[in-house]
Amino acid sequence: MEHDHGDMMLETSENRHKKKTEEPGLHTGDGNRNSRKKFTFSIWYFVIAFILIIIFNNLFFSSNLNEAVSIDYSQFKEYVAEGRIVQVAFDGDQYIGYGITKKDAITKLQEIAATHQIPSTIDTSSITAYQTYRIDDPSFIQLLDEKGVEYYATEPAQPSVLSYLVSMLLPVLIFFIFYAWLSKRMAGGAQGVMSFSQNKSKLVAENDTGVRFADVAGEDEAKAELVEVVDFLKNPGRYTDMGARIPKGVLLVGPPGTGKTLLAKAVAGEAGVPFFRMSGADFVEMFVGVGAARVRDLFKQAKEKSPCIIFIDEIDAIGRKRSDASIGGNDEREQTLNQLLVEMDGFDSRTGVIILGATNRAEVLDPALLRPGRFDRQVLVDKPDLNGREAILRIHTKKMKIAADVDLKKIAQGSAGLAGADLANITNEAALQAVRLGHDAVTQQDFEEAIEKSIAGLERKSRVLDEKERIRVAYHETGHALTAYLTEGSSPVTKISIIPRGYGALGYTLQYPTEDRFLLSEAELLGSVDVMLGGRAAEETVFSDISTGASNDISRASDTVRQMITEYGMSEKFRNMTLPKTNSGIEGVSGGREYSEATQQYIDNETERIIDERYTHVLNNLRKNREALEKITQALLEKEVLEGDEFEALAKQFTVK
Ligand code: ADP
Ligand code: ZN
Ligand code: MG
Repeated sequence: MEHDHGDMMLETSENRHKKKTEEPGLHTGDGNRNSRKKFTFSIWYFVIAFILIIIFNNLFFSSNLNEAVSIDYSQFKEYVAEGRIVQVAFDGDQYIGYGITKKDAITKLQEIAATHQIPSTIDTSSITAYQTYRIDDPSFIQLLDEKGVEYYATEPAQPSVLSYLVSMLLPVLIFFIFYAWLSKRMAGGAQGVMSFSQNKSKLVAENDTGVRFADVAGEDEAKAELVEVVDFLKNPGRYTDMGARIPKGVLLVGPPGTGKTLLAKAVAGEAGVPFFRMSGADFVEMFVGVGAARVRDLFKQAKEKSPCIIFIDEIDAIGRKRSDASIGGNDEREQTLNQLLVEMDGFDSRTGVIILGATNRAEVLDPALLRPGRFDRQVLVDKPDLNGREAILRIHTKKMKIAADVDLKKIAQGSAGLAGADLANITNEAALQAVRLGHDAVTQQDFEEAIEKSIAGLERKSRVLDEKERIRVAYHETGHALTAYLTEGSSPVTKISIIPRGYGALGYTLQYPTEDRFLLSEAELLGSVDVMLGGRAAEETVFSDISTGASNDISRASDTVRQMITEYGMSEKFRNMTLPKTNSGIEGVSGGREYSEATQQYIDNETERIIDERYTHVLNNLRKNREALEKITQALLEKEVLEGDEFEALAKQFTVK
């Protein structure tokens, strides 16, 4: 276990994760370009359709002969009387009167067209025609007869079948074009309202991820399991011949930044098969049913490309436990999850599709996902051990210019508890620092500073503490260090600093374990609680009052003690028993505890009693070693930073056990 006691240094682990290296998105850029292309395309459709409409209109709806001048009935009658109208057609409820006979006009025009070799389009505009509405007027016929006007009845103009069809289809056509255009536009803007299910831009199979197992350091057990998966993909026959069932799903579980995504890519790279990668969050959409449609689509495409790998990163986004009481309507997520379960059941692993999932919170996943036939294998991708860290550092420094004094083993020792991504980040920080300081190569010093930065936030020498604060911080940190020194089995102190760092850390004490610890005894846990309490105890020893600076220490100490009681079964009453809390399945809402109110009371009392006992013990120790406390604090105030050996020398000289 690694201790870094920084006042108010609450954020350490979060800082690390903030620096997680971003991987280049596989597919984001493409999608945009695609939709823009389609967008202009549809505009062209629109323009073409518009031109067509105009042409149709001209072809079918404009017969110039019908383009008669509308006049009043009385005027019409007058024209007949004057002899300006020589022919009248009774067309339904209208009269159409022609200035010269229609027949004559057409013949005449056809003659003209023939002599001038004009194609047979007849310009009949020269024919004067008048149109008026029919009025029940018997004298009109009389008038016509009188004037010798030729008259006849025509059927009201029947629209041709073609024009009828066009007039029917055009609105439909226009509607479709408009719809397509609208949906494209929305797809560009608001994440595809109508083209959601086939979000092809996101579903591009990578053919070579460019990552091999050799690029993943440490994680030997995880790799060993995944080598088998690669073999399934390469020689499925060997397993099926033997009658073995090839696992469908492999779930990579581990803390953030440990290389889960990297491993999944390495599996695809080694097997040389297409790699479909989606993040759980990609499925979660505003609209109910979209996620499920995406899942269906993903599996459909994967089956077409088999053998291949489907990788669902951060699967907890959709795979969280389905709650009984659906608060706030988690329908969409649950539908998506159900669809995923259905798809996983619905195909045979002999088709050569293997599903990899990754999560850093396997405990929140729905148990149905983990049943045989779904994610039947879980591969633990844990934080790297000492050798793993060294190997990761080696990989990430391969392309760097490294000074001769760099000892990667030592750096690995000093970075217990960091994940692969943190280490990758540290090597990069070190290189940046080397450039900043104009070094020829990256030095050990650069690495050490990079680690410190990563652990305790950026160095901020510029922030000045007032002298009283500085003294208090110095006593506080010395309190931690001295308690560590006085506690049997505690990791040696490697550094004490009162240089303020980012994120509110006023000072810190670093302890590096000499080896990686996976097991801690009860005594060691209590020892770590002592060290956490040491800061406040030192303040009380010297100033007889305490400050807010120790709040983080205090909460960590009480958490450790509570854990000892509830998780490790280290209390007197519940000696070998855990006291679990149920998971509510809803983020931010803690579940019920599976023990009684009386037990909760016991836990609280016991925590208080143990903390009190430890605090008194630490306080006594520090009071006894007041001289050491003063001397070391003095040295710390002078130098701001004490290295492990300087501290050790002083402590050895002045402490009494
Ligand atoms: P996770 O998916 O577990 O959160 P990633 O696979 O995204 O972590 O890791 C982020 C980066 O950290 C990787 O791209 C790689 O550069 C580095 N990294 C993490 N673990 C390892 C490892 N075991 N070996 C080498 N590099 C690693
Ligand atoms: Zn502290
Ligand atoms: Mg990842």
